[in-house]
Amino acid sequence: MIELRKRPPQCDTLQESKRKHRLKVAKLLHKPRDSLTQSELELLEMSPDIIRSIVQSKQTKERSLIRQNIDIDLPGVLESKVDQLASLIRASKCCLFYTGAGISTSSGLPDFRSPELGAWTNPENIKDYLASSERSPFATMAPTFSHMVLSALVQQGLVKHVVSQNCDGLHLRSGIHPQNLSEIHGNMFAEACTTCQPQRVFYRKFDVTEATAFRRHQTSRVCGFCQNPLRDTVVHRDEYNATDHPQNWVGVDPLAPKADLVVCMGSRLDIIKCYKGLWRSPSIEKKRLVIINLGWTTKDKVCRFKINAPCDDTMRLLTEKLNIEPMQYRIEDDVLLHLADADFSGTHQGGGAPTTPDIFEEEQIARSKGYIPGWMRVILNKVHNSKK
Ligand SMILES: [Zn+2]
Repeated sequence: MIELRKRPPQCDTLQESKRKHRLKVAKLLHKPRDSLTQSELELLEMSPDIIRSIVQSKQTKERSLIRQNIDIDLPGVLESKVDQLASLIRASKCCLFYTGAGISTSSGLPDFRSPELGAWTNPENIKDYLASSERSPFATMAPTFSHMVLSALVQQGLVKHVVSQNCDGLHLRSGIHPQNLSEIHGNMFAEACTTCQPQRVFYRKFDVTEATAFRRHQTSRVCGFCQNPLRDTVVHRDEYNATDHPQNWVGVDPLAPKADLVVCMGSRLDIIKCYKGLWRSPSIEKKRLVIINLGWTTKDKVCRFKINAPCDDTMRLLTEKLNIEPMQYRIEDDVLLHLADADFSGTHQGGGAPTTPDIFEEEQIARSKGYIPGWMRVILNKVHNSKK
Protein backbone atom coordinates (compact mmCIF):
# COMPACT_ATOMS: atom_id res chain seq x y z
CA MET A 1 0.00 0.00 0.00
CA ILE A 2 1.30 3.45 -0.92
CA GLU A 3 1.56 5.79 1.98
CA LEU A 4 1.04 9.41 1.05
CA ARG A 5 3.59 11.84 2.34
CA LYS A 6 2.16 14.30 4.80
CA ARG A 7 3.48 17.63 5.96
CA PRO A 8 4.83 17.33 9.50
CA PRO A 9 2.38 18.94 11.98
CA GLN A 10 4.98 21.50 13.17
CA CYS A 11 5.16 22.84 9.59
CA ASP A 12 1.45 23.70 9.60
CA THR A 13 1.77 25.37 13.01
CA LEU A 14 4.68 27.47 11.76
CA GLN A 15 2.76 28.55 8.65
CA GLU A 16 -0.25 29.42 10.77
CA SER A 17 1.81 31.51 13.18
CA LYS A 18 3.47 33.38 10.23
CA ARG A 19 0.02 34.07 8.77
CA LYS A 20 -1.22 35.43 12.11
CA HIS A 21 1.89 37.59 12.48
CA ARG A 22 1.37 39.07 8.99
CA LEU A 23 -2.31 39.72 9.69
CA LYS A 24 -1.47 41.50 12.94
CA VAL A 25 1.12 43.69 11.20
CA ALA A 26 -1.33 44.50 8.37
CA LYS A 27 -3.95 45.61 10.90
CA LEU A 28 -1.44 47.80 12.74
CA LEU A 29 -0.42 49.49 9.46
CA HIS A 30 -4.02 50.62 9.05
CA LYS A 31 -4.05 52.37 12.44
CA PRO A 32 -2.73 55.94 12.98
CA ARG A 33 0.84 55.62 14.24
CA ASP A 34 0.28 57.82 17.30
CA SER A 35 -2.48 55.49 18.51
CA LEU A 36 -0.14 52.46 18.70
CA THR A 37 1.05 51.09 22.03
CA GLN A 38 4.74 50.57 22.79
CA SER A 39 4.49 46.79 22.20
CA GLU A 40 2.67 47.33 18.86
CA LEU A 41 5.41 49.74 17.73
CA GLU A 42 8.03 47.17 18.71
CA LEU A 43 6.21 44.50 16.70
CA LEU A 44 6.32 46.76 13.61
CA GLU A 45 9.99 47.45 14.16
CA MET A 46 10.71 43.71 14.30
CA SER A 47 8.87 43.04 11.02
CA PRO A 48 10.52 45.05 8.17
CA ASP A 49 10.29 42.18 5.64
CA ILE A 50 6.62 41.62 6.32
CA ILE A 51 5.88 45.35 6.01
CA ARG A 52 7.76 45.51 2.69
CA SER A 53 5.83 42.53 1.35
CA ILE A 54 2.47 44.00 2.48
CA VAL A 55 3.25 47.35 0.83
CA GLN A 56 4.37 45.63 -2.38
CA SER A 57 1.25 43.50 -2.64
CA LYS A 58 -0.93 46.56 -1.98
CA GLN A 59 0.82 48.43 -4.82
CA THR A 60 0.40 45.45 -7.16
CA LYS A 61 -3.33 45.29 -6.38
CA GLU A 62 -3.74 49.04 -6.97
CA ARG A 63 -1.83 48.82 -10.27
CA SER A 64 -3.97 45.94 -11.45
CA LEU A 65 -7.18 47.82 -10.55
CA ILE A 66 -5.99 50.89 -12.49
CA ARG A 67 -5.17 48.66 -15.47
CA GLN A 68 -8.65 47.12 -15.48
CA ASN A 69 -10.17 50.57 -15.54
CA ILE A 70 -11.59 51.43 -18.94
CA ASP A 71 -12.07 55.15 -19.64
CA ILE A 72 -13.81 56.08 -22.84
CA ASP A 73 -13.20 59.48 -24.44
CA LEU A 74 -16.24 61.77 -24.53
CA PRO A 75 -17.47 62.46 -28.11
CA GLY A 76 -15.92 65.95 -28.31
CA VAL A 77 -12.56 64.72 -26.98
CA LEU A 78 -12.58 61.76 -29.36
CA GLU A 79 -13.33 63.98 -32.32
CA SER A 80 -10.52 66.37 -31.53
CA LYS A 81 -8.00 63.52 -31.05
CA VAL A 82 -9.02 61.85 -34.33
CA ASP A 83 -8.69 65.24 -36.00
CA GLN A 84 -5.10 65.41 -34.75
CA LEU A 85 -4.45 61.85 -35.91
CA ALA A 86 -5.80 62.65 -39.39
CA SER A 87 -3.46 65.65 -39.63
CA LEU A 88 -0.50 63.54 -38.52
CA ILE A 89 -1.33 60.85 -41.11
CA ARG A 90 -1.60 63.46 -43.87
CA ALA A 91 1.74 65.02 -42.91
CA SER A 92 3.56 61.72 -42.36
CA LYS A 93 6.16 60.43 -44.81
CA CYS A 94 6.35 56.97 -43.26
CA CYS A 95 3.38 55.85 -41.18
CA LEU A 96 3.18 52.35 -39.67
CA PHE A 97 0.29 50.65 -37.90
CA TYR A 98 0.83 47.94 -35.24
CA THR A 99 -2.34 45.99 -34.49
CA GLY A 100 -3.52 43.51 -31.86
CA ALA A 101 -6.58 41.41 -31.06
CA GLY A 102 -8.75 44.48 -30.33
CA ILE A 103 -9.08 45.18 -34.05
CA SER A 104 -10.77 41.80 -34.60
CA THR A 105 -13.20 41.65 -31.66
CA SER A 106 -16.06 43.24 -33.62
CA SER A 107 -15.81 40.21 -35.91
CA GLY A 108 -16.83 38.04 -32.93
CA LEU A 109 -13.36 36.86 -31.93
CA PRO A 110 -12.18 36.82 -28.32
CA ASP A 111 -9.07 38.80 -27.40
CA PHE A 112 -6.43 38.29 -24.71
CA ARG A 113 -6.83 40.77 -21.87
CA SER A 114 -10.34 42.21 -21.84
CA PRO A 115 -12.23 41.52 -18.59
CA GLU A 116 -15.11 39.62 -20.26
CA LEU A 117 -13.67 37.67 -23.19
CA GLY A 118 -9.91 37.69 -22.70
CA ALA A 119 -8.06 34.40 -23.21
CA TRP A 120 -5.69 35.24 -20.34
CA THR A 121 -8.19 36.98 -18.07
CA ASN A 122 -11.24 34.78 -18.53
CA PRO A 123 -10.60 31.49 -20.36
CA GLU A 124 -13.73 29.84 -18.94
CA ASN A 125 -15.93 32.58 -20.45
CA ILE A 126 -14.28 31.99 -23.81
CA LYS A 127 -14.92 28.26 -23.68
CA ASP A 128 -18.61 28.88 -22.86
CA TYR A 129 -18.86 31.51 -25.57
CA LEU A 130 -17.28 29.25 -28.20
CA ALA A 131 -19.34 26.23 -27.15
CA SER A 132 -22.61 28.18 -27.23
CA SER A 133 -22.10 29.84 -30.64
CA GLU A 134 -24.12 28.02 -33.31
CA ARG A 135 -21.26 28.57 -35.78
CA SER A 136 -17.67 28.89 -34.68
CA PRO A 137 -16.58 32.57 -34.73
CA PHE A 138 -13.31 31.34 -36.24
CA ALA A 139 -15.21 29.99 -39.27
CA THR A 140 -17.51 33.01 -39.70
CA MET A 141 -15.01 35.80 -39.03
CA ALA A 142 -14.46 38.43 -41.70
CA PRO A 143 -12.43 41.65 -41.84
CA THR A 144 -13.93 44.36 -39.61
CA PHE A 145 -14.57 47.96 -40.59
CA SER A 146 -11.16 48.87 -39.09
CA HIS A 147 -9.42 46.23 -41.22
CA MET A 148 -11.06 47.63 -44.34
CA VAL A 149 -10.12 51.25 -43.49
CA LEU A 150 -6.53 50.24 -42.85
CA SER A 151 -6.48 48.39 -46.16
CA ALA A 152 -7.71 51.56 -47.90
CA LEU A 153 -5.05 53.66 -46.12
CA VAL A 154 -2.35 51.27 -47.36
CA GLN A 155 -3.73 51.29 -50.90
CA GLN A 156 -3.71 55.09 -50.92
CA GLY A 157 -0.12 55.17 -49.69
CA LEU A 158 -1.05 56.95 -46.44
CA VAL A 159 0.17 53.93 -44.43
CA LYS A 160 3.39 52.22 -45.52
CA HIS A 161 3.20 48.98 -43.58
CA VAL A 162 1.06 47.06 -41.09
CA VAL A 163 2.56 44.90 -38.34
CA SER A 164 0.05 42.59 -36.70
CA GLN A 165 0.25 40.28 -33.72
CA ASN A 166 -2.91 38.52 -34.89
CA CYS A 167 -2.80 35.17 -36.64
CA ASP A 168 -6.46 35.37 -37.70
CA GLY A 169 -5.46 36.34 -41.25
CA LEU A 170 -7.96 39.21 -41.39
CA HIS A 171 -5.52 41.88 -42.61
CA LEU A 172 -4.59 39.74 -45.59
CA ARG A 173 -8.28 39.04 -46.27
CA SER A 174 -9.03 42.78 -46.17
CA GLY A 175 -6.83 43.21 -49.23
CA ILE A 176 -3.47 44.30 -47.82
CA HIS A 177 -0.74 42.91 -50.05
CA PRO A 178 1.58 40.45 -48.19
CA GLN A 179 4.50 42.77 -49.05
CA ASN A 180 2.97 45.57 -46.95
CA LEU A 181 2.09 43.26 -44.07
CA SER A 182 4.09 41.60 -41.29
CA GLU A 183 2.05 38.95 -39.48
CA ILE A 184 4.69 38.52 -36.82
CA HIS A 185 2.92 35.68 -35.00
CA GLY A 186 1.99 33.89 -38.23
CA ASN A 187 -1.27 33.27 -40.04
CA MET A 188 -3.59 30.36 -39.21
CA PHE A 189 -4.29 29.89 -42.94
CA ALA A 190 -0.63 29.77 -44.04
CA GLU A 191 1.68 26.76 -43.89
CA ALA A 192 5.29 26.78 -45.03
CA CYS A 193 8.02 24.57 -46.39
CA THR A 194 11.25 25.49 -44.62
CA THR A 195 13.25 22.91 -46.62
CA CYS A 196 12.76 24.68 -49.94
CA GLN A 197 15.12 27.64 -50.34
CA PRO A 198 13.84 30.26 -50.43
CA GLN A 199 11.09 29.05 -48.13
CA ARG A 200 7.65 28.62 -49.67
CA VAL A 201 4.32 29.63 -48.12
CA PHE A 202 1.07 27.92 -49.06
CA TYR A 203 -2.23 29.62 -48.27
CA ARG A 204 -5.27 27.48 -47.40
CA LYS A 205 -8.98 28.07 -47.00
CA PHE A 206 -8.93 26.22 -43.69
CA ASP A 207 -7.09 26.50 -40.37
CA VAL A 208 -3.76 24.67 -40.71
CA THR A 209 -3.07 24.61 -36.95
CA GLU A 210 -5.69 22.00 -36.07
CA ALA A 211 -3.17 19.24 -35.34
CA THR A 212 -0.24 21.42 -34.26
CA ALA A 213 0.73 22.48 -30.74
CA PHE A 214 3.34 24.31 -28.69
CA ARG A 215 6.74 23.42 -30.23
CA ARG A 216 5.03 20.88 -32.55
CA HIS A 217 4.32 22.65 -35.80
CA GLN A 218 4.17 19.98 -38.49
CA THR A 219 0.85 19.91 -40.28
CA SER A 220 -0.29 16.68 -41.92
CA ARG A 221 0.53 17.88 -45.42
CA VAL A 222 3.69 17.90 -47.54
CA CYS A 223 5.28 20.42 -49.87
CA GLY A 224 4.13 19.97 -53.47
CA PHE A 225 7.66 20.83 -54.69
CA CYS A 226 10.03 18.82 -52.46
CA GLN A 227 7.59 16.46 -50.69
CA ASN A 228 8.94 17.42 -47.25
CA PRO A 229 6.50 18.03 -44.37
CA LEU A 230 4.92 21.45 -44.09
CA ARG A 231 4.71 23.39 -40.83
CA ASP A 232 2.27 26.00 -39.63
CA THR A 233 3.56 29.57 -39.39
CA VAL A 234 2.24 30.39 -35.92
CA VAL A 235 4.62 31.60 -33.21
CA HIS A 236 3.43 30.78 -29.70
CA ARG A 237 4.56 32.53 -26.54
CA ASP A 238 8.10 31.39 -25.56
CA GLU A 239 8.83 30.21 -29.09
CA TYR A 240 11.19 31.54 -31.75
CA ASN A 241 9.97 32.31 -35.21
CA ALA A 242 10.98 29.67 -37.79
CA THR A 243 9.38 30.95 -40.98
CA ASP A 244 10.29 33.96 -43.14
CA HIS A 245 6.72 34.64 -44.24
CA PRO A 246 4.08 35.77 -43.41
CA GLN A 247 6.21 37.34 -40.62
CA ASN A 248 7.97 39.42 -43.27
CA TRP A 249 10.48 41.03 -40.90
CA VAL A 250 12.50 42.07 -43.93
CA GLY A 251 9.52 44.20 -44.94
CA VAL A 252 9.27 46.13 -41.68
CA ASP A 253 12.87 46.12 -40.38
CA PRO A 254 14.08 49.00 -42.58
CA LEU A 255 10.88 51.04 -42.02
CA ALA A 256 10.52 50.85 -38.22
CA PRO A 257 13.53 53.04 -37.34
CA LYS A 258 12.68 55.74 -39.87
CA ALA A 259 8.89 55.88 -39.36
CA ASP A 260 7.70 59.36 -38.32
CA LEU A 261 4.26 58.10 -37.17
CA VAL A 262 3.41 54.79 -35.47
CA VAL A 263 -0.20 54.04 -34.63
CA CYS A 264 -0.85 51.12 -32.27
CA MET A 265 -4.35 49.81 -32.32
CA GLY A 266 -6.26 47.28 -30.20
CA SER A 267 -3.45 45.96 -28.00
CA ARG A 268 -2.06 46.41 -24.49
CA LEU A 269 1.34 46.09 -26.19
CA ASP A 270 2.55 43.58 -23.60
CA ILE A 271 4.14 41.35 -26.22
CA ILE A 272 4.81 43.74 -29.07
CA LYS A 273 6.86 45.99 -26.77
CA CYS A 274 9.42 43.15 -26.56
CA TYR A 275 10.29 43.47 -30.28
CA LYS A 276 13.02 46.05 -29.78
CA GLY A 277 13.49 46.73 -33.51
CA LEU A 278 9.99 48.20 -33.75
CA TRP A 279 10.65 50.98 -31.21
CA ARG A 280 12.88 53.99 -30.72
CA SER A 281 13.85 55.93 -27.61
CA PRO A 282 11.03 57.17 -25.30
CA SER A 283 11.71 60.78 -26.37
CA ILE A 284 11.11 59.85 -30.03
CA GLU A 285 8.09 57.66 -29.25
CA LYS A 286 6.55 60.63 -27.42
CA LYS A 287 6.59 62.44 -30.76
CA ARG A 288 5.61 59.65 -33.13
CA LEU A 289 3.46 57.13 -31.21
CA VAL A 290 -0.34 57.32 -31.10
CA ILE A 291 -2.32 54.61 -29.31
CA ILE A 292 -5.91 53.59 -29.98
CA ASN A 293 -7.09 51.20 -27.27
CA LEU A 294 -9.78 50.60 -24.70
CA GLY A 295 -7.89 50.26 -21.43
CA TRP A 296 -4.34 50.54 -20.15
CA THR A 297 -1.30 49.79 -22.34
CA THR A 298 2.39 49.38 -21.54
CA LYS A 299 3.22 52.47 -23.64
CA ASP A 300 0.69 54.92 -22.16
CA LYS A 301 3.46 57.05 -20.69
CA VAL A 302 5.55 57.22 -23.84
CA CYS A 303 3.05 58.18 -26.51
CA ARG A 304 2.14 61.46 -28.16
CA PHE A 305 -1.51 60.87 -27.22
CA LYS A 306 -3.91 58.05 -26.67
CA ILE A 307 -7.40 57.56 -28.07
CA ASN A 308 -9.60 55.73 -25.58
CA ALA A 309 -12.27 54.35 -27.89
CA PRO A 310 -13.19 51.16 -29.77
CA CYS A 311 -11.19 50.67 -33.00
CA ASP A 312 -14.22 50.77 -35.33
CA ASP A 313 -15.58 54.02 -33.80
CA THR A 314 -12.19 55.67 -34.20
CA MET A 315 -11.69 54.45 -37.75
CA ARG A 316 -15.20 55.58 -38.74
CA LEU A 317 -14.37 59.13 -37.63
CA LEU A 318 -10.96 58.93 -39.28
CA THR A 319 -12.50 58.09 -42.67
CA GLU A 320 -14.61 61.28 -42.39
CA LYS A 321 -11.60 63.41 -41.47
CA LEU A 322 -9.45 61.96 -44.26
CA ASN A 323 -12.34 61.85 -46.69
CA ILE A 324 -11.78 58.25 -47.71
CA GLU A 325 -14.32 55.56 -48.37
CA PRO A 326 -13.18 52.03 -47.58
CA MET A 327 -14.30 49.14 -49.76
CA GLN A 328 -16.97 46.84 -48.37
CA TYR A 329 -15.59 43.35 -47.71
CA ARG A 330 -16.78 40.88 -50.36
CA ILE A 331 -15.96 37.17 -50.31
CA GLU A 332 -15.27 37.10 -54.04
CA ASP A 333 -12.50 39.71 -53.61
CA ASP A 334 -10.92 37.95 -50.62
CA VAL A 335 -7.15 37.74 -51.19
CA LEU A 336 -6.93 34.53 -49.17
CA LEU A 337 -9.44 32.83 -51.46
CA HIS A 338 -7.36 33.73 -54.51
CA LEU A 339 -4.00 32.86 -52.94
CA ALA A 340 -5.36 29.52 -51.68
CA ASP A 341 -6.76 28.65 -55.12
CA ALA A 342 -3.40 29.48 -56.68
CA ASP A 343 -1.51 27.42 -54.09
CA PHE A 344 -3.68 24.33 -54.45
CA SER A 345 -1.13 22.26 -56.31
CA GLY A 346 -1.73 18.69 -55.24
CA THR A 347 -0.19 19.35 -51.82
CA HIS A 348 -2.88 17.42 -49.97
CA GLN A 349 -1.23 14.06 -50.64
CA GLY A 350 0.72 12.74 -47.67
CA GLY A 351 -2.30 11.80 -45.57
CA GLY A 352 -3.66 15.17 -44.69
CA ALA A 353 -7.12 16.14 -45.80
CA PRO A 354 -8.16 19.23 -43.82
CA THR A 355 -10.17 18.49 -40.70
CA THR A 356 -11.16 22.10 -40.09
CA PRO A 357 -13.97 24.00 -41.81
CA ASP A 358 -13.38 25.55 -45.22
CA ILE A 359 -14.23 29.15 -44.36
CA PHE A 360 -15.52 29.81 -47.88
CA GLU A 361 -17.97 26.87 -47.88
CA GLU A 362 -21.36 27.69 -46.38
CA GLU A 363 -22.14 24.02 -45.61
CA GLN A 364 -18.91 23.56 -43.67
CA ILE A 365 -19.38 26.82 -41.78
CA ALA A 366 -22.88 25.67 -40.80
CA ARG A 367 -21.32 22.56 -39.20
CA SER A 368 -18.55 24.47 -37.39
CA LYS A 369 -20.18 24.62 -33.92
CA GLY A 370 -17.57 24.05 -31.22
CA TYR A 371 -14.57 24.34 -33.53
CA ILE A 372 -11.58 26.04 -31.88
CA PRO A 373 -8.35 26.51 -33.87
CA GLY A 374 -5.26 24.69 -32.66
CA TRP A 375 -3.43 27.97 -31.88
CA MET A 376 -6.25 29.12 -29.61
CA ARG A 377 -6.29 25.74 -27.81
CA VAL A 378 -2.56 26.19 -27.10
CA ILE A 379 -3.31 29.53 -25.40
CA LEU A 380 -6.23 28.17 -23.39
CA ASN A 381 -4.13 25.19 -22.23
CA LYS A 382 -1.30 27.51 -21.18
CA VAL A 383 -3.66 29.65 -19.14
CA HIS A 384 -5.24 26.54 -17.61
CA ASN A 385 -1.81 25.13 -16.64
CA SER A 386 -0.56 28.48 -15.28
CA LYS A 387 -3.59 28.74 -12.98
CA LYS A 388 -3.24 25.23 -11.54
ZN1 LIG B 1 9.49 22.31 -50.22
